[in-house]
Amino acid sequence: MENLCKNYVIAIDGEAGTGKSTLAKNIAQKYGIVYMDTGAMYRCVTLDMLNNNVSIDDVDGISKILDNINIEMTNENGEDKFYLNSCDVTKKIREKQVNDMVSQVSHVPVVRQRMVELQRKLAKGKNIVMEGRDIGTNVFPNADVKIYLVASAEERAKRRFLQNKEKGIDIPFDEIYKNVVFRDNNDKNSNVAPLKKAEDAYEIDTTNYTLEEVENLVVSKIKEKIEL
Ligand code: C5P
Repeated sequence: MENLCKNYVIAIDGEAGTGKSTLAKNIAQKYGIVYMDTGAMYRCVTLDMLNNNVSIDDVDGISKILDNINIEMTNENGEDKFYLNSCDVTKKIREKQVNDMVSQVSHVPVVRQRMVELQRKLAKGKNIVMEGRDIGTNVFPNADVKIYLVASAEERAKRRFLQNKEKGIDIPFDEIYKNVVFRDNNDKNSNVAPLKKAEDAYEIDTTNYTLEEVENLVVSKIKEKIEL
């Protein structure tokens, strides 16, 4: 068992739609840990670029966006809310235009560098469960617990489709499927912090598991390393 007085980081990485967000949120809520959705941060940068007509190869434009951006994450009555420069963008960051561009944006070196800095800063002094693609490999390579989730592309697209429906976001299943596969390939083949399992991460294929089963498994793995 590790030193109980020290703050801890639980890193949850994996492909789109593997259930990272729901899992991380549930664990954070149950054990009173801070939750951070790093994908939403890349989505906010992407939306800011779209709003300001800044393209992926406009280095100066991207730098300007990053110098002025203000991203806030709050929890209001149990719902996670995201504010971009004081505007509620909780729904907007999940829409098609952002889905289509976020993966390329997240692999622009200066974007990655600034977001990773911000993630480390926001996590300082907290017990935190952070979910994303490079948390266990890049943001916190010494994280106390590392979980890596995978699932079949079909199952992941199905989950995203249902999640969107719940949030009132209307994107056809086929489009979601294509986007999920596209983003994964892009995330895995990037030169900048590619999506891959950290050597010391615990991998779970969630395709045939319920959320509750995954949560129980993950919580038992976490408890092997830290006291929740
Ligand atoms: O988690 P979510 O699907 O919202 O993430 C959106 C995109 O942000 C991913 O497809 C990936 O390209 C990028 N991302 C990343 N590194 C993270 C989190 C997300 O590159 N830590």
